[in-house]
Amino acid sequence: MAMKPLRPCGHPGCSALTREGYCPKHKPKPAARKGSAEYHAWYSLPVWTDDLRPTQLLAEPWCRECAKRGIRTRATVVDHVESHRGEWARFVDRANLQSLCKPCHDRKTAREQAEKRRERSGR
Ligand SMILES: [Zn+2]
Ligand SMILES: [Zn+2]
Repeated sequence: MAMKPLRPCGHPGCSALTREGYCPKHKPKPAARKGSAEYHAWYSLPVWTDDLRPTQLLAEPWCRECAKRGIRTRATVVDHVESHRGEWARFVDRANLQSLCKPCHDRKTAREQAEKRRERSGR
């Protein structure tokens, strides 16, 4: 069987050469159930801690929600605009990331939880 050619990793901005489509660091993970240990473990992976998170904060150092109200607050949280729901492709999608300050992120989380409760109660 012929060896597959070496190609750059499919992760945007990664130039590591691989025969697998992705380098080991960016290899897609199987979907994780929301709230599972694996789901939380994604946030301790190097791809998040050393790449996606710092790159996002560097590109957008100020809270996006505060900026909408004309306030400049330093962002400390990198948030998924649309929840990735355990889907790896969405988790690593840079276009789906935004910088938020902690209070804005907490507000967003509370809002999402309230919406979910409404969905569950059938409305
Ligand atoms: Zn890579
Ligand atoms: Zn904010």
